[in-house]
Amino acid sequence: MHCPFCRNPDSRVIDSRTSDDGLSIRRRRQCPKCGGRFSTVETASLYVIKRSGVVEPFSREKVMSGVRKACQGRPVTDADLAVLAQRVEEAIRQTGSSQIEANEIGLSILGPLRDLDEVAYLRFASVYQAFDSLEDFDAAIAQLRADHADRDAALADGDLDGRPVA
Ligand SMILES: [Zn+2]
Repeated sequence: MHCPFCRNPDSRVIDSRTSDDGLSIRRRRQCPKCGGRFSTVETASLYVIKRSGVVEPFSREKVMSGVRKACQGRPVTDADLAVLAQRVEEAIRQTGSSQIEANEIGLSILGPLRDLDEVAYLRFASVYQAFDSLEDFDAAIAQLRADHADRDAALADGDLDGRPVA
């Protein structure tokens, strides 16, 4: 790539480091012409196969806009959505695949969205998993309640932080 300072088409790698998660490489570069230093980050390309068969690059922005609608009126900020989109991308990259089906993205969104806001989660799940009756909502809410009960019990036992709650 061109030097961002002087557009010189050549640069020299002076340092190169793999990220802690092993999913990207950061290279420190220097331009031999102007001496300017800059960094590049190299990651494997990630593609999404849409239901129509069209393949397009994965986009965090699209994850955010897909979830934003479910978050209307909820205390969820754009920064929260950005973190969620990052978690989704990391989860997908952890699988090691370079191409994923669009519906797998929906699946990867459910967990992080549930942690963020349960009402938004129910809205998103109802569309994504095509809830078509009150029983579907009942089942999803019952699951959330059961998990709350487990979490409260664990808290009471001090399991989560290793300390008893007196
Ligand atoms: Zn330069």
